[in-house]
Amino acid sequence: MGKTKVAILGGGSGGLELACGLARHEDLAVTLIDRVGAHLWKPRLHEFAAGTVDTNLTEISFYVLASLRGFHFEQGEVMAIDRARRHVVLKRFEDARSEAVAPERFVAYDRCVVALGGVTADFGTPGVREHAYRLDGRADADAFRTTFVALMIGARETRRPARIVIVGSGATGTELAANLRQAEQAFFEEGRGERDRLLSITILEAAPEIMPGSDDKLRRSVLERLQALDIDVVTNAKVAAVEDGGVRTGSGAIYPAEATMWAAGLVGLPVLKELADFEIDGKGRIVVDPWLRTTVDPLVHALGDAASLTPDGAERPLPPTAQVASQQAAYLARSLPRAIAGGDAAPFRYRNKGQLISFGQAGAVGILGGTRKDDFLIHGQFAKAAYSALARDHQWTVLGPVRGSMAILADIMMPAKGPALKLHG
Ligand SMILES: Cc1cc2nc3c(=O)[nH]c(=O)nc-3n(C[C@H](O)[C@H](O)[C@H](O)COP(=O)(O)OP(=O)(O)OC[C@H]3O[C@@H](n4cnc5c(N)ncnc54)[C@H](O)[C@@H]3O)c2cc1C
Repeated sequence: MGKTKVAILGGGSGGLELACGLARHEDLAVTLIDRVGAHLWKPRLHEFAAGTVDTNLTEISFYVLASLRGFHFEQGEVMAIDRARRHVVLKRFEDARSEAVAPERFVAYDRCVVALGGVTADFGTPGVREHAYRLDGRADADAFRTTFVALMIGARETRRPARIVIVGSGATGTELAANLRQAEQAFFEEGRGERDRLLSITILEAAPEIMPGSDDKLRRSVLERLQALDIDVVTNAKVAAVEDGGVRTGSGAIYPAEATMWAAGLVGLPVLKELADFEIDGKGRIVVDPWLRTTVDPLVHALGDAASLTPDGAERPLPPTAQVASQQAAYLARSLPRAIAGGDAAPFRYRNKGQLISFGQAGAVGILGGTRKDDFLIHGQFAKAAYSALARDHQWTVLGPVRGSMAILADIMMPAKGPALKLHG
């Protein structure tokens, strides 16, 4: 009997962890597919955008990881899943000049896992596509950082602060704002006081409070920290349009901006609807059962931001977080080999470990315990350590115990070299 072929579509927070977990099984032939050649852990995308990246291991080649961990990597853009023929269809591969270097390709599978992630939702708001940045991938972060650096150079020269408006006060918006404030320091001139700001940052939130859906204590603490960082927060500000030069709200208020970051909400990637005849929820994600199987095909699974799983008794699906993606990857790494061998597996159970928000060098704050009564707010070094632990867990799972420990040690020693900044390309 040949090996069972497992195709994992998307090497993000969940897909890559799953590939590393399954590659240990000698009776499985694991193929990981991603449209880009290097893995970037998405929860740190705002650091790439602001240039405050604090670890080299935030981005790592899939080709290197494939040979280290024992899976096959196929670079290409997933277009469809042919469920009848059991293969994944990859778009023809084009080089930088848009010339085809490889035709449409097919990757055969016995089991397939869709882990293609999500995309920022614009809710049909006019002007978002044309005038706003989003943080969906490395290219978005690079484009925003290039603009940010240019704005800082201009502000230093004209002595007029550049204005950045961030739409959405969730983790992406608040963490990006804090990291931009940190990166601003690199452009301060000798002898110039902190009060001569080069950057004015405004966060607009449509809801009456920031971070809708989050714990009250956490929200208050985040707001205090944003205010201490001189970041304006405007609530009840539903954006009607993003324009060249600013943002207009439903009430007619105008917030002038040299750059606008749209960080409001997440939906499934448009391609999810076209992959096959999957059941799709209201946010464009693939509906799965408690074993993370798609409702139309038990041989095709979905996880992370691409999947919609409403736990028993819950009113809404699990949120699109790395915490969910990672737990689902760990679950499938255990349950898939068992299911392939003909055994039974218990359904997936999500354990909410809480929520952490990092303000870069200005610290971190978080709530631990999730929905339990014993939730507690953490801050200071404890919160910073808990936030770093998320990234460390990911590094450990992806690199394995030996390389993972070495990478973690190297990262811990990094601050001795001074604050991390990557403001170039
Ligand atoms: C700025 C920011 C901060 C965040 N902070 C946190 C946090 O602190 N804690 C937390 O839990 N979550 C956080 N999140 C959310 C978290 O990053 C996501 O929920 C998580 O990455 C989802 O994992 P995933 O595996 O489903 O998808 P992703 O990590 O998005 O990976 C999807 C992969 O699929 C690939 N792909 C996409 N389309 C195709 C295609 N057609 N063909 C081939 N490959 C494709 C992509 O290149 C990518 O590698 C944050 C997100 C952002 C943007």
